[in-house]
Amino acid sequence: MKIKAKLISGVGLLFALIILLAAMSGFYITSLKNDSNNILVANYNTLEYARNMMLALEEKPFDSNSQQLFEANLKKQKNNVTENEELEVTNNIQLHFNQLKSKPNETPLTSLIRKDIAKLMELNMLAIERKSSIAQSTADEAVLRISFTGMACFLIAFVLLVNLPGNIADPIKNLTNSIKQIANQNYKERVHFEGHNEYGELAQSFNTMAIKLEEYAESKLDKIIKGKKRIETLINNMHDPVIGLDEDKNVLFANDEALKITGLKSEEFIGKKIENAALNNDLVRDLIKDLNDANNQGKKNKNLKIFADGKESYFEKEIIDINIIPTGESETQLIGHVIMLHNVTLFKELDIAKTNYIGTVSHEFKTPISSIKMSLALLNNQKIGQLNPEQKQLLDSINDDSDRLLKITGELLNLAQVESGNIQLTIKPTDPMGMIQYAMDAIKTQASQRNIKLQLSYHDTLPKVMADSEKTTWVLINLIANAIRYSYDNSTVYVSVEQIDRTMKFAVKDTGIGISDRYKNKIFDRYFRVPGTLKEGTGLGLAISKEFIEAQGGSIGVESDLGIGSTFFFTLHL
Ligand code: ADP
Repeated sequence: MKIKAKLISGVGLLFALIILLAAMSGFYITSLKNDSNNILVANYNTLEYARNMMLALEEKPFDSNSQQLFEANLKKQKNNVTENEELEVTNNIQLHFNQLKSKPNETPLTSLIRKDIAKLMELNMLAIERKSSIAQSTADEAVLRISFTGMACFLIAFVLLVNLPGNIADPIKNLTNSIKQIANQNYKERVHFEGHNEYGELAQSFNTMAIKLEEYAESKLDKIIKGKKRIETLINNMHDPVIGLDEDKNVLFANDEALKITGLKSEEFIGKKIENAALNNDLVRDLIKDLNDANNQGKKNKNLKIFADGKESYFEKEIIDINIIPTGESETQLIGHVIMLHNVTLFKELDIAKTNYIGTVSHEFKTPISSIKMSLALLNNQKIGQLNPEQKQLLDSINDDSDRLLKITGELLNLAQVESGNIQLTIKPTDPMGMIQYAMDAIKTQASQRNIKLQLSYHDTLPKVMADSEKTTWVLINLIANAIRYSYDNSTVYVSVEQIDRTMKFAVKDTGIGISDRYKNKIFDRYFRVPGTLKEGTGLGLAISKEFIEAQGGSIGVESDLGIGSTFFFTLHL
C-alpha cells in the first residue's frame, strides 16, 4: 500500500470515527432529551392535573369555583392523553364529573371520581417508570456505543501513532545511511524496502543508481589498471633506469635497468624504504642524495659513474618531484618522486675522445709553433742578415699569427685539462699584487698598441691569498686581455684588488662595448661568443677562467651595461 494511501486511509478512518462519535453523541443526547421531555409533558403534567382535580374535589362544598378548577384541569388532561387506557379513564372522569355536577352531594360519585383519578395517576406513574427505564436503556446504549466508537478511535490513533512515524522515518534513515555509504565509494550498498509503496520505488531507483555506479567504478578501475600496466610496461622497456617513490620514500617501482645497475632484486627493493636499501648500497645512496632538496624539479646532477653492462657507464641523474593539487583543494601536495638516470656513456665517451684529441693535437702543435717563434726570432736577428721592409712586415705578421696560434693552443690545452677533470692545482699563500703585476706586464704591449691605459688600484697592505698563482695569473691575463680587446682605443682599463672579509676580490673594469643582459649568464659557457662579436676569439677564455677559479673554491662574475662597459671580478679565499 502506498504511503499516501496509508496516510489517507488511517487519518480518514480516524476522521470518520470522530464524526460518527460526534453524531452518535448528538443523537443519544437528543433522544435522552426527548425521553425526559416525554415524561415531563405526557405524564408529569397529567399527574399535576390529577393532583389539582383531586384538590378541587376535596373542596367543601364542591361549589362552582371548585368545579371550574376541576373542569379546567380535566380539559387540560383531555388534551394530554398519551397512554393506553388513559382516554377511557379520562372519559370516565368526565362522565362521573358530569354526574356529580348534577348531583353535587352524591358521595359515591366523588369516591368514584377519586378512584378514576387514582387510576389515571397510576397509569401515568407506570408510564413514567416505563419511560425512565427506556431512557436508562438509551443512556446505557449510548454509553456502550460511544465507548465502543471511542475505543475504535483510540485503537486506530494508537496504531497510527506507533506505526506511522516509523513507517515514514525509518526508510528515510536507511536511505540516508545508504547514501553515505555510496558517498564513501561503497558501491555495493543496496536498500531493501518491503512493499510496493513510494519507498519501494525509491529503493529500486537507488539500487539501480548503485549498480550503475558500481559498474562505472569497476570500468574505471579496469581502465586505471590497464593504464597502470601500460605505464609499467613502458617504464620496464625504457633503456634508462627509473625508480618511483611515494611521499614516504617507499619504492613504488623500479624498472629492470634500475634493478640491474643497483644490483638489487625486486623483492628486496620494491615496497621497501629506499633509505634502508641505501644503507648497504653505495649507488642507491648516491641516487637519494638530493632527494630532500626543496626543489628538485627537473634538476640534473653531475654525471654518475656506474659500473654497468660489464663496463664503466655514465648516467645523468634527474629527480622529478610529483606534485598534485587534490580535487577541491588549492594547495599543491607532494606525493612522490621519480629518479631517472639518463645513460650518457656514449656522449661521455665521445667527449673524452674529443678532449683527448684536443689535448693531443694542441700539445703536438706547441712544439712546431715554438720552433716557428724561435725561427722568427732568429730571422729578426740582424746578425743573420738584413731584411728589407716588406720581409720585415711579413715576419711581423707571421709573428702575430703564431702568437694567436700559441694562445689558442694554450687555451685548448687548458680546456682539455679542465674537461678531463685533471686540473693540477698548487694552492698556497700567494701575494695578490705579484700576480697582478705579472699579468699587467704580460699584457702591457698589447695595451700600448691600442693606446689603452692600465690603471691599478689597491690597498697598501694586502694579505696573502690562497691561490694557484699560475692559474690565477692566467685568469687575470685573460680578463685584462678581454677588457683591452672589447674596449675602444685610447680608453682606460682599471684593475683593482681589495679585501672583503675573508676573501680577496680581483676586478677588471673597462669602458668598452659592454654585454647585453641576456648574454651575461652565457658568456661563461664553453665556446660561447656574444653574437656579432667582431674580434677574433674561441669563446673558451671565460669558461676556462670559471673552471680555474671555482676549482680554487672561489667565484667569478660580471657586471655590465651594454655600451657603457663591463666589470669582471673573481674572489678567492684568504
Ligand atoms: P673570446 O674572447 O675568445 O671570444 P671569452 O670566453 O673570453 O672568449 O669571452 C666570451 C665572450 O664574452 C666574447 O666573445 C665576448 O663577446 C664577450 N666578452 C668577454 N669579455 C668582454 C668584455 N670585457 N667586454 C665585452 N664583451 C666581453
